[in-house]
Amino acid sequence: MDAGRVNLLGLQPRDLTAQVEQWGGKPFRAKQLLRWVHQRGVGEFSAMSDLAKDFRQQLDARCDIAAPCVVTEQRSSDGTRKWLFDVGNNNAVETVFIPEDDRGTLCISSQAGCTVACPFCSTGYQGFNRNLSTAEIIGQLWHVRRVLDADRGTARLGEGAAEIDPTRVVSNVVMMGMGEPLLNYDQVVGALRLMLDDNAYGLSRRRVTVSTSGVVPMMDRLSQDCPVALAVSLHAPNDALRDRLVPLNKKYPLAELLDACNRYLEFAPRDFVTFEYVMLDGVNDTDDNARELIRVARQVKCKLNLIPFNPFPQSGLKRSSAARVKAFAQRLMDAGVIVTVRKTRGDDIDAACGQLAGDVKDRTRLKERRVRQGDIAIPIVEMRA
Ligand code: SAH
Ligand code: SF4
Repeated sequence: MDAGRVNLLGLQPRDLTAQVEQWGGKPFRAKQLLRWVHQRGVGEFSAMSDLAKDFRQQLDARCDIAAPCVVTEQRSSDGTRKWLFDVGNNNAVETVFIPEDDRGTLCISSQAGCTVACPFCSTGYQGFNRNLSTAEIIGQLWHVRRVLDADRGTARLGEGAAEIDPTRVVSNVVMMGMGEPLLNYDQVVGALRLMLDDNAYGLSRRRVTVSTSGVVPMMDRLSQDCPVALAVSLHAPNDALRDRLVPLNKKYPLAELLDACNRYLEFAPRDFVTFEYVMLDGVNDTDDNARELIRVARQVKCKLNLIPFNPFPQSGLKRSSAARVKAFAQRLMDAGVIVTVRKTRGDDIDAACGQLAGDVKDRTRLKERRVRQGDIAIPIVEMRA
C-alpha cells in the first residue's frame, strides 16, 4: 500500500468523519462508508452503490481497504478454520474460527510474537517482532467475515440475520491469538471499538473478550476506555510459580493482579473474570496447587478455565493426564469454584492456543515438527455469552 494513502480499515468512526469532512464530504457519508466497509464487508469502492460516483472516484484515488494478506487457510474436519496472515518481514500471525453449537468464536492476534515469554507458549519462544496496527487486528475479523459470508452465500449481517445459522457467523471474538493485547493497548482498543460499533461489527461487549497475562495498569485503563469481557492467564496459584510460568508476574504479582481484577469487575459487562489455567504435568497440577488455587479463586468472582497444555518441542513440558485434570477440577468444584475444562478440537490442522507461530520461513519446518509430534489440537473457548 502506498504510504500517502489512507487504509480505511483502521480508522475510528470519528477519524473517518473528520477525514471525509476534510475531503469536502458530509458527515453522514462517513457512516455510509463505515457500513460498507465493516458491516457489509465490501472491499471495492465501485460497489458502494449509494455513494456518489465522484466521491467513489475520490476514495479510489486516496484510500485502500487493506487487510493483511492470507498466506494459508486450513480447515479441520470439525469445522474449525485457521488463517495465517502475512504481516511483513517474514512475520505472520494466525487467526482461528471455532464454530460451536450456538455461536462462532474468532480468536484474533494482537502482536507478531510476544515479550512476556511464558515458557509454555510457542509465541513467547519466538520473541517479540512487532505490534499489529488497528487495521491489521480488525483486518483479521474483516477477512473472516467476508469468507464466512461468501461461504454461506446468503445475506450479510442485518439482512435476514434471523435466518443465519449462529455457528456460521462471528458472534464472539476473543483476543487470545498471538501476543499480549494489553501491551499493544492503543491499537487493540481501536480494534475493540470497531468491533462494538453498531455501524461496524455491532458485537456486544459481553461477546468480546480480552485475554491478558496481567498487565495491571492497562487492565485499569481498559475498564475505563472500553470495558469488555476479561480473561486472565493465571496458570499458577502462588508468586514463586507464577514468576516462572508468567514472567510478567515479577512486575505485577498475584495480589496486585487480583486487586486489579476486582477493580475491573466494577465496570465490566460480565460479573466474573475468566481465569485461564494451563495444566502442566507435575508443574502446577498437584493437590497442593489445587488447594492454593481455591484460595485465589475465592478472592475474585471468577470462572476457572482449565486448559490442556498443547505441547511443543522446545518447552520441555508435558500435558497433565486427563485423569489428573479431572481430579484437579473436582477438587476445585467441591470447594464451590466454577470450573470448565477446555475441549480440544481440530487436531487435524496445525493450530493451537500457545502454539501459534509467526515466521513464514520457519513455517514448514515447524509444521513438520508438530505433525511428527502428533499432538496438535485447537482448544475450544468455553466461555458462554
Ligand atoms: N497473551 C495473552 C493472550 C494470548 S495467549 C494471554 O496470555 O492471556 C491465549 C491463551 O493461550 C492464554 O491463556 C495462554 O496462557 C494460553 N496458552 C499459551 N500457550 C499455551 C499452550 N502451549 N497450551 C495451551 N494453552 C496455551
Ligand atoms: Fe505472550 Fe500470552 Fe504466550 Fe504468555 S501466553 S507468551 S503472554 S502470548
